[in-house]
Amino acid sequence: MGSDRGRGMTGTRREGPRDECGVFGIYAPERDVARLTFFALFALQHRGQESAGIAVSDEGQILVFKDVGLVSQVFREDVLRSLTGQMAIGHVRYSTTGSTGWANAQPVIRSRTTGDPLALAHNGNLVNTDELRRHLEARGVALGSSSDTEVIAALLAAHPARDVKEAVSEVIPRLRGAFSAVVVTDGQVIGFRDPYGIRPLVLGRLGDRYCIASETCAFDIIGATPVREILPGEMCWIDESGYHFRQVTPPLRDSLCAFEFIYFARPDSVMRAQTLHDARCRMGRQLAQESPVEADLVIPVPDTGVAAAIGFAEESGIPFGTGLVKNRYVGRTFIEPDDSLRRLGIRMKLNPLAADIRGKRLVAVDDSIVRGNTTSQLVNMLFSAGVAEVHLRVSSPPIIYPCFYGIDMANQDEFIAFERTVEQVGEWLGATSLAYLSLEGLLKAIGMGGDGFCTACFSGSYPCAVPEEVRMSKLRFERSAERTR
Ligand code: SF4
Repeated sequence: MGSDRGRGMTGTRREGPRDECGVFGIYAPERDVARLTFFALFALQHRGQESAGIAVSDEGQILVFKDVGLVSQVFREDVLRSLTGQMAIGHVRYSTTGSTGWANAQPVIRSRTTGDPLALAHNGNLVNTDELRRHLEARGVALGSSSDTEVIAALLAAHPARDVKEAVSEVIPRLRGAFSAVVVTDGQVIGFRDPYGIRPLVLGRLGDRYCIASETCAFDIIGATPVREILPGEMCWIDESGYHFRQVTPPLRDSLCAFEFIYFARPDSVMRAQTLHDARCRMGRQLAQESPVEADLVIPVPDTGVAAAIGFAEESGIPFGTGLVKNRYVGRTFIEPDDSLRRLGIRMKLNPLAADIRGKRLVAVDDSIVRGNTTSQLVNMLFSAGVAEVHLRVSSPPIIYPCFYGIDMANQDEFIAFERTVEQVGEWLGATSLAYLSLEGLLKAIGMGGDGFCTACFSGSYPCAVPEEVRMSKLRFERSAERTR
């Protein structure tokens, strides 16, 4: 759902999958590393809007500043000026585990057994946090928050190795789930990625210095260029002598989250040697081949349906139009709408260009449908604007399984496609017709055949085993969750 990710907007029920987190790290002693990190986080803002933080390392001391809010709200000029150092890491957060708020904002800082401080920021979600937490608590290690990030930091800090890279090498095999993390300590910035490579992480070059980020859009904004993606199970460290790689665990089934391609990552970011914009255009083309329809106009559901709608229009020969105008300041207000405004729902974010679409047969292209609440409002709004037909085309397969790897979606029994046929979903939404991109079509459009991606929320095939108690507790929770329309 391109328009209803929640992006910090208050007062409307959260609808689509929410972004996880974004991380950045840089080693550049002669540069203003806090300012560079600020702008990198600014570019990664789409990956998390609940909190932001920067840790700078200065002559062995680490200073962390973090707070709830958008990057531009958390950091003022005087704060950035006070964050001096040779290296920095940063984080934007969307909570996937743990409660929200300051206590779970990142980076987290711990004191190592060597006495040196260590700061860590993490994107992903561990599935064996409880087991690791029990292990730490049995050894008298105190934990101050409910986040799995603190557990990883505590494991690294408690490790007796003098060189933190040895600690990372020994801790990674104990972690289960999705993790792409950056660490700053002791003259180096380290990035590491889980053996399945579920969350992205890429190394970049800035002059003769180096940086690490969730996405390449963080490099563009500071004038850096990508070097290469950090591989599944690989550690990369950057220091005075440049960059270095070490394969810590054998890479397992390469399983980059397919939703990075469908929706999460910015369209101008490059993953697997292609921009997400191009990949999404191909998804739209594929969708037009699989599910053609007679219509007058193709419109996107802004913003994330745009590329797929362009591809659909190009392939089908049906003209592309705007159709819906998005309030570009959505997500920038903390003022709650009152009840009468809340009832307007989707109109807080989108408004139809009625004169352009009245009487027309529309193809409305969106990237995904989760609960369907906003989509049904959208369809209703288009018909109210005088549209003759609304053919929904979705550039991902139906979502029917929960994510355990750090994507905050609805519970399983809240998914509109759970235990419903496509026809039933279309009817529920009130659309003239509905079609999803097939899983095979998605993988074909991404250009990777059947390999290289996690597609578990469509297929139920989880690349990294999810412990039964985690699965079952979520299912129990899912069963008790109230379905809302
Ligand atoms: S289950 Fe879905 S959202 Fe989660 S990592 Fe896999 S593809 Fe991404």
